Order: sequence, then structure tokens, then C-alpha cells
Amino acid sequence: MGAKGITRRRLRPYSGRSGTRRRRGRWSGDFIPAETRRTLPIVLPVAGAGTFAAVAAIHSLVVDWPGGSTIAGVAGLLVAAILSEAFPLPIEGVNAGATSLAIVFIVATAAIYGWPEAAVVGLITMVPVEVERKKPPIRAIFNTGLYVCAATVAGLAAAHWRGGGLWAIVVAGFLGSAAFYGVDMFLLSAVIARLRSQNFFVTLRRYVMTTVLPFLVIASLTVTLVVLWDRSPFVSLVVVGPLITIALYERWLHRALERLREFDRLKDEFIAVISHELRTPLTSVYGAALTLQNRDVHGKTRESLLAIVSDEAARLARLLDDVLSASRLDAKTERFEIIPTDAAEIARAAVEAVQPQLPSHLELDVVIEPKLPPVAADADKLRQILVNLRENAIKYSPDGGRIEIALSHHDSVVRFAVRDEGIGIAEDELAQIFDRFHRVDPNMTRGVGGTGLGLYISRELVEGMRGRMWVTSTEGEGSTFSFELPVA
Ligand code: ADP
Repeated sequence: MGAKGITRRRLRPYSGRSGTRRRRGRWSGDFIPAETRRTLPIVLPVAGAGTFAAVAAIHSLVVDWPGGSTIAGVAGLLVAAILSEAFPLPIEGVNAGATSLAIVFIVATAAIYGWPEAAVVGLITMVPVEVERKKPPIRAIFNTGLYVCAATVAGLAAAHWRGGGLWAIVVAGFLGSAAFYGVDMFLLSAVIARLRSQNFFVTLRRYVMTTVLPFLVIASLTVTLVVLWDRSPFVSLVVVGPLITIALYERWLHRALERLREFDRLKDEFIAVISHELRTPLTSVYGAALTLQNRDVHGKTRESLLAIVSDEAARLARLLDDVLSASRLDAKTERFEIIPTDAAEIARAAVEAVQPQLPSHLELDVVIEPKLPPVAADADKLRQILVNLRENAIKYSPDGGRIEIALSHHDSVVRFAVRDEGIGIAEDELAQIFDRFHRVDPNMTRGVGGTGLGLYISRELVEGMRGRMWVTSTEGEGSTFSFELPVA
């Protein structure tokens, strides 16, 4: 049920990432972001109606102060509502977001005690949760106003049936739920439609379609709670067990489905990246082989064609190694043979191996602190990491510059830093570059090939040897990939 209830998507007028950020004059009309201004015709009336309802509810309660048992009952429902609101449930198929079971308790308050109690419970449920979530004020105001309005309408809808026989109580619970849901859907659709400049009825239909089933479940839970409460508030505690079980099960199910979706996405990415990366060397090998087969080629041409075949075959083998390595790391079957290792020797070898083929516009140096202690590492894995980082530094320095591999000793760790003066990485990409298959936009990496596995493998290997890895970079100026391994 709701903008709040059934869905948790609600109002996002301050989602700061979108669009260009303009400088706003302090007192200019631009002071309020355009997105927020668009929603004001909905937010302001909701806030006004919510305030009016809350004041009227408090006034009514003060004038007609409820007895001790009512206060105790409302307090119990309030605590349950706050807890449910603080831990919303992701519901499969509800594309609008997560669902809060708080409505069960707010509507139950409406059906059992009346609209003033329900409005106050709605208000007190929302305020601490919204404050704790540090929602932008406009969203917090809208969500709170919405809850108070929906709770009030639920209380008024149930008023006629409250306190009657069994069927009257059932009707009160159901009407209260339906009224809350109706207000929630209506106002949520109105604000989202304005925010996205969509048709209100299309938005409303979409939200209702995806939330009607959870609404029926919530309405049934509410009716059950109200009926049990009528017998005895203590008996109604029996619904706590099923509610917690539903909540835990739903969360578990949601996490499992999220994992499956992630696997599915990775599979698609894997196929796209691997087929792209296979095609280039295969085309070269095929072309070279055909030329060697069909034409009488000798001397230098023959040598260069054979070099293409062997280089590209080696590239294919590396690609396969990366895929297998990533798969072993994923499955946690990679084995590490950690022994005291001379890191300086491995770093020097990694630099010397590539010096003869290094493009003339690149300079590659190794700087090793004197008396570097041995590290606790698997020598092959350490070599693999340094080669990965060295290859990236070369690949992503198309205009040349200096690359440095520096090793230094800090307390109980040895730090490795691979610095380059290449294209660098944009700040908003830094968090993702260690993800599997993640590659910065190919235009930004100037069309350099790659699978997006190298950094993932490197970081996993470092962590497998009880170390940590990170990057600092400035776009256009260069990057430093660093990692630390424990001293042996
Ligand atoms: P690959 O290089 O095969 O694409 P990696 O996992 O090694 O995969 O790197 C992931 C991405 O991180 C690269 O696509 C590139 O955009 C970026 N990157 C890695 N190293 C550097 C570097 N030294 N300079 C700039 N960008 C880098």
C-alpha cells in the first residue's frame, strides 16, 4: 500500500546525480531544483492536508483523552509500525520498490481505535524513520503527509463498522486497508507522473497492477490482526511469528533472486566480452594463415606473418588463462602457496622482461627500497599481479610517459605501487574498475582491447594473500595502483 506503504520508491526530487549541476543564485527563482518545483503542486497540498489532519487528530485526542488501555494498545501498534517501517520488505514483482508492513499496524489502529489515533501513529511512524534515513526534506514531508492523510482516510472509512460484531470488524479492517491503499496509490502516482511528465492514469494503472497482490496480502493480515485484537490484544501477538517469518523468508528469497539476476547479467557480459576479445586475434591468425597458405611468401613477410600467428595465439592463451583464473577465484578453488618471497626479485624480473619490447615513448623503472624484507606471498600469483598492472600501465599510456613500479616497507607490510602518466580514470569509475568485466567506456580507453578481468583477478589474488589493493587516479594525468602484502 503505498507511496509509502506498498512502494518505497516515492518521491526522489533531489536525486542529485542526474543532469548537469547548475550554479544557482541565492535568491533566484532557480533556488529550488526544477524537478522539485514540478512536484510542488502535489507535495504542498499533501503536506497541508497532512498537517491539518495531524493537528485535528491531536486536538481530538487532547479534548477526548483516551483511557489507559487505549494508550497502551496504540503504543504497541505504534512500536510495531515503526519497526516494520524501519525494515521494509523487497517484494518480487513490485517494480516500484520495497513494501512496508507498517500499514498493517496503522490501518489496524484506524479500525480498532479511530482516525485520530491512526493519524498520530502514521505521523510518529514516519518522522523518526525519515529523519534516520536522512531523506531530503521535500521527500520526508511528502511521505509523512501521505501517511497521515492515508491513515486518516482509513480511520474515516472504517468508522461506521468499528466496534461491531465479527463481520463488522472484518469490514472495518478491509475498508481501512482499501482506503489507505487507494490514497497511497493515488498520491504516489500523481507525484511520480508529474516528476516524470507521464500520464497520471498510465502511472496509476502501472502501480496498481504491480501492487495489488501485496495489497491483498496486507489487507488479509490487517483483518486477521484486527479480529484477533478484538478477542484480546495479547492473543494478537500470535501474528508476530508469521509476520517475522514472512519478512525473513521474503528477504532471503529476494537476495537469492538478486544473485541469480547478477549471474545472468555476468553471463551476458561474459559472452559479449569474450566473443569480442576472441574475434580480433582469431581474425589476425586466420588472415595470416590464409596468406601463408595461398601465396608464396618468403623472408621478412613470412617472418612477420608467423610472428602475428604466435603473438595472437599467445594473446588467446592469456585470455583463456584469465577466464580460468577468474572462474577459480569465483569458485574459491584457487590455491595459494604462501611462502617467504623475494618481492624485489619478482618486480625486477617483471620490468626487465618487457624492456626490449617497450615502445620508445615509454620509460619503465623499478624503485626498490633498500633492505626490503621478504613478503608472505605465492610467488607466481605476485608475478601475475605485477604483470597485470604493468600491462595496464603500458596499455593505458598511449601517449607515453614514465611508468614506475615502487616497492617500500611500511611496518608489517610491503607496499607495491605501479604508477603511470597515462589516460587516468574518471572519479565516478574508480569504484567499479575492480568489478568483473567492467571496462571504462571504450572511447575513453581509446579503443584499447581487454576483458575487464585483469583488475578483478589482481585484487582477488591480493586479498587471497591477506593483502589489500586500491587505486588513486586523476583523469588525463595518470593512475597509481597500489597493494600491500604482509611481511613474511
Ligand atoms: P582490461 O584492461 O582488460 O579492460 P582490467 O580489469 O585490467 O581490464 O581493467 C579494467 C578497466 O580499468 C580497464 O578497462 C580500464 O578502463 C581501467 N584501467 C585499468 N588500469 C588502468 C590504468 N593504468 N590507467 C587507466 N585506466 C585503467
